[in-house]
Amino acid sequence: MRPSTLLILACAAALALGTSAAPTAVVIGAGVAGLKAAADLAAKGVAVTVLEGRDRVGGRVWTVNTPGGPLELGAQWIHGTNNPILAVAQTQRWPTVVTSSEDAASYEAVSPTAAKQISAADDSEWDQLFTDLVAYVEEAAGEGSSSATLASAISAFAKDKGLTPRQLAGLNFRVDSTWTQEYAAE
Ligand SMILES: Cc1cc2nc3c(=O)[nH]c(=O)nc-3n(C[C@H](O)[C@H](O)[C@H](O)COP(=O)(O)OP(=O)(O)OC[C@H]3O[C@@H](n4cnc5c(N)ncnc54)[C@H](O)[C@@H]3O)c2cc1C
Repeated sequence: MRPSTLLILACAAALALGTSAAPTAVVIGAGVAGLKAAADLAAKGVAVTVLEGRDRVGGRVWTVNTPGGPLELGAQWIHGTNNPILAVAQTQRWPTVVTSSEDAASYEAVSPTAAKQISAADDSEWDQLFTDLVAYVEEAAGEGSSSATLASAISAFAKDKGLTPRQLAGLNFRVDSTWTQEYAAE
């Protein structure tokens, strides 16, 4: 059980017991979960202190301001319209925009302050490399090498196929955006 969950339970118990002093709570972490827990407790009259280890709130939601505008280094999509985060956004009157992955465009950094859109040719080549990598990994797993790491499988695949540094960079980008960010960036 996470520390913030334990604290919520402790506060709920204090409320249920009807102790005369106003209940207090400490929430560890000012990410989405901690901030929502703190807001819910405060709304019930609990005096909440939020402790955050970093010098900013938001946790894995992290917007940085760049000369070109705000840049999201963490979470940015509200997946689905029945997502409770959408209700939070609407209550707070945060602007939301409907997006589709079909309309997504990818950019690569060409200098610390400039980026160019990735070409359709590179895009489709990297898609194909990713598809080939999946087949390669599945075949290796079928041959009993399932304990190998993903990084070692990518290295072996790149060596077998004679990938150029740019092709390998494109493949790593696909792996990162498809697997790391969707499933393992927690
Ligand atoms: C690159 C990236 C992209 C993502 N994209 C999306 C997306 O588009 N849509 C989506 O729904 N989700 C996305 N996610 C996942 C989403 O960011 C997380 O699920 C969510 O932010 C987690 O919130 P949390 O409050 O549970 O944890 P966190 O955001 O990790 O917050 C935990 C907080 O607790 C603090 N903390 C931890 N331990 C202590 C301690 N001992 N003392 C004090 N403070 C402590 C940490 O510093 C942190 O601020 C993405 C994640 C990443 C990394």
